[in-house]
Amino acid sequence: MYYNKKTTVFHDGQWMKAEDANANLFDQTLHYGTGVLDGLRAYKNTGGFNIFQAQTHFKRLQESARKMKLKFEYSVDELVNLAYELVERNQLENAYIRPLIYSGSNMRLEPTTETHFFMGAWKWAKFHGTEPLNVMVSSYVKPNPKALPIDAKVVGNYASSVMASSEAKQLGYDEALLLDHKGNVAEGPGSNFFYEKNEVLYTPKTGTILPGITRATIFQIAKETGTRVVETDISPADLETADYAFFCGTASEISPIVSVNGESLKGKSWEESASYNIHFIYQQKVLFSEYDGLTIV
Ligand code: PMP
Repeated sequence: MYYNKKTTVFHDGQWMKAEDANANLFDQTLHYGTGVLDGLRAYKNTGGFNIFQAQTHFKRLQESARKMKLKFEYSVDELVNLAYELVERNQLENAYIRPLIYSGSNMRLEPTTETHFFMGAWKWAKFHGTEPLNVMVSSYVKPNPKALPIDAKVVGNYASSVMASSEAKQLGYDEALLLDHKGNVAEGPGSNFFYEKNEVLYTPKTGTILPGITRATIFQIAKETGTRVVETDISPADLETADYAFFCGTASEISPIVSVNGESLKGKSWEESASYNIHFIYQQKVLFSEYDGLTIV
């Protein structure tokens, strides 16, 4: 599903076939979740393809590594060029790109000086698409920000995401909405959350969420379109009066939510919402390179 015999990946400074790339069973990340990752998307455009916000994603990867005290010496420009080469080598256009920094062989609960870097890409089928989602407030909460850097993409943070998503699917919902440790609405398992009421957008403030790049792009589009965005504490009860809601993230873009815990949201048609307009503009934005010279033409 993620690779075949022809797939090339970048691993520890080398291009190699995915089937020849190996990790060690004693790698610390495998046992204790100490690695960091990111997720980018390449979009086919008229000039070839564009990796949306490539620099911002790789800056975040560097920051995530720093927060987890993982040695990582690639520059942002090197990483951007490697990502473009990866997509080209695999003859992909619409793709998901996964860089991962993982710590090497170490069974102690102590820092690991040996780190490894992997980057792979695969053809991207839409995650949620625009199918409206029925979500449930999960019984699993986001990890406490005092337990792990929650604003970094730490491998171990995703254990709670997988639990929440599995619970939601088992109970017949499409996705989970996680609260933070204080009981406020936080985010989806791998996406940020917004709701719309009287044409104003509300989203959880930073501190207990991953401040996503899509979230930041939505702020930018909202500013351009004159839509007000409020970053605030959101209680699950606030959602009862919401007109619309959506998840957003690199993988899923903007996914409308039609119900929370079986209660339908109040808005009439998603297409008439301010959120839909933002989604529409987002889909145009991702096609164009923000960085001259970095898009393959
Ligand atoms: N929250 C979590 C927990 C995530 O994993 C992601 C995906 N990276 C997001 C939010 C959305 O972030 P972005 O828009 O940068 O993809």
